[in-house]
Order: sequence, then structure tokens, then C-alpha cells
Amino acid sequence: MRPTYLEVNLTQLKQNLENIRAKAAPAKVLVVLKANAYGHGVDGVAPFIAPFADYIGVAIVEEGIHLRKMGIATPILVMGGTLPQQLSDFFEYDLTLAASSLDLLTAAEQLAQSTRKRLKVHLKVDTGMERIGVREYEAESLIEKSLSCSHLDMEGIFTHFANSEVMSLQKNMTPLSLQLERFEGILSMYEKRGVPHPRIRHTANSGAILLHPESYYDMVRPGVLFYGVYPGRDVEKTIEVKPALTWRSKVVYSKVTQPGRGVSYGSLWQAEAPTRIVTIPCGYADGYFRRMTNQARVIVNEKEYPQVGRICMDQFMVNAGGDDVKVGDEVILLGGGITAEDLADWTGTNEYEVMTNISARVPRVFTRAVQ
Ligand SMILES: *Cc1c(COP(=O)(O)O)cnc(C)c1O
Repeated sequence: MRPTYLEVNLTQLKQNLENIRAKAAPAKVLVVLKANAYGHGVDGVAPFIAPFADYIGVAIVEEGIHLRKMGIATPILVMGGTLPQQLSDFFEYDLTLAASSLDLLTAAEQLAQSTRKRLKVHLKVDTGMERIGVREYEAESLIEKSLSCSHLDMEGIFTHFANSEVMSLQKNMTPLSLQLERFEGILSMYEKRGVPHPRIRHTANSGAILLHPESYYDMVRPGVLFYGVYPGRDVEKTIEVKPALTWRSKVVYSKVTQPGRGVSYGSLWQAEAPTRIVTIPCGYADGYFRRMTNQARVIVNEKEYPQVGRICMDQFMVNAGGDDVKVGDEVILLGGGITAEDLADWTGTNEYEVMTNISARVPRVFTRAVQ
């Protein structure tokens, strides 16, 4: 196997889920497995975690189809936008539709009627993202329509928060409370009509799960928190979770460089005295961002060293100073003290982007070690 690989601790993921569930109970838990399970490798994560999840969330219909073809039987909600021409896939693979517009809902009802197949639907309302979904001031017609869709199973209704991880001294004055108020307004439209609301109301992503129990309703939707990473630096850690990733590699080359010899493309760095430079067989094509050049740090033989010179597509160099680092020595790029937050800082992005960009060229190895 390739010496550069991503070790994924499945036991830790399960522990994270259990800790989230303990806090959110009696709400159900939808585990978000979009974007290759936030880079962790959906082929290993999904079969392991599905038996413990009430629902699975993906972004696009193709991700749902992939899970069904793997044999995953748990209900799957496709949370993102869907084109009308993709609707037949929902019927074929028993996926739950996020009905985000009157047109989409109408098309789904027509298809259900003509194919005589039922489809599970969650109405998607937009309370403050201006992304997909119907705004609270135009939700009446969507709800009205949904009540007449006799061929669909109107199972859920949901919205998504724009600032759930934002801390505020006055908890009742957060941007989230405005979104919740709008969501409540939509739910009251059912009450006004004297009909029950859909049985699964859900709003809470990771930030809301940590900070806003009033947003749990019937189900919560942890993404980044399930993967053991907090959605923001100073968010209150009301649930204990730990990361499950260790990105490993091995030194493939070791040499002593001399002053006057630039290291890597652009010769951005050179040593001031004879210095050991080791090469790691991993680069930006693996998701080790080029933007981290001369800022990243790695662990070699349990000691931290700075990355130096331009990060290349397939390799990068590390300044091992005067230490005797040899070919074959163990390297850790993420984990063991180096966090997704560190990589995000060195890149100028967030932890989500770091994890989801570890490319398909990096093999995933699934372990069940207890940390
Ligand atoms: C991605 C996503 C989530 C999970 O968000 P986290 O911040 O990772 O918890 C929840 N709900 C929806 C609709 C999403 O698209």
C-alpha cells in the first residue's frame, strides 16, 4: 500500500455519535455523510455507522445512490438542491427528497401518481440562508400544496442555520433565534389549519447542537461534530468529541542541504547552514494544500518540524535540522497533536475544507482502536 494514507478510527466516530445522541435525546440523529463522509471515506464509514444512525444525510442524489448501491438500508435524506429530471432516481433508490420549491414538490407528486410509487419528502424552508428553500413569507402555498399531495409521504420539514456556532452573551438575541422564530411561524401554519405538522421537524447542525437545545425538535443533523471537530474556535464544548483522523506518511528521501541551494520550486527557502532536509511523498494533489508552503508543520519520529520550500503536487520537504532522520521514518501530517484547525490556519480556510479535500489518491485505512 501507499506509505501516505489516512487512518480513520471508526470506534471514535461511534463514540462521538453516542455523545451527541446522549445530549440530543429524545431527538433522533441524522448523521451527515456527504462529501465522502467529510473526507473520511464513505465506503468505510457508512456501513459501520449506518446501524447506529436514525437517518443519513447527503448533499446530492448521486451520494445517496452510491450508499444504496453499497447496501445501506437506513433512510437517506438528500439535503441539497435537486433538478426535476433527477426525481426518478429518488423513487428508484428510495431516497428522501428535500422539496425546496413548489415546482419540485408538484413534479414529485405527479411522478408519484404516474409511477404509483410513494416517495418520502421533507419540505425545505429557508429562514435565513437565501440558499435553497421557500422563505417563511411564501411558505403558505408550499404547505397548502403539500397537504394535497396524496401520493407523497410528507415525513419532514426542515431549515438550515447560517450562524449556529456564533456565541452571544444574550442567548435569546442570536441570529439563530430569528431563524427559529421564522421556523416556528411556519409550523404555526399547520396549527392554524388544524392539521398535524410533518412528524420529523429538524433544524440543528453541529453549532446548534452544541449551543441551542431549543432547536433540536425531532431530529438533529451533526456533520463536523460527528467527525470530532468543533464548528468554530471559541464555541462552547458542551459535548465531548474527538477527531478520528490520522494522516500518515513516511520519509522517502533524506539529505543534508548546503547554504546557497534553494529548496523546491521558486527557491523560496534555503538553509543558512548545513541542514537535513527530508522529502515526504505527499503533495497538493493529495489535498496537502500548496497554500501551506513554509507554514505547515509535521511530526517525524514524534517530534515537530517545519515544512520548507514550495509544497509540490506529489511531494514536499521538511527541515529536520541537525536530527538524524532516515528514509522510512514515520511522519504524521494530521493527528498526534496537529489538528485540522492547524491545517486550516496555515491554509487560510476552515476545518471542513481541509478534511473534505484530502483527495481520493490517499488510501483510507479503517481501524477500531480505542484512543
Ligand atoms: C452539511 C449540512 C449539515 C451539517 O453541518 P455541520 O456544520 O457540519 O454540522 C447539516 N444540515 C445541512 C442541511 C447540511 O447541508
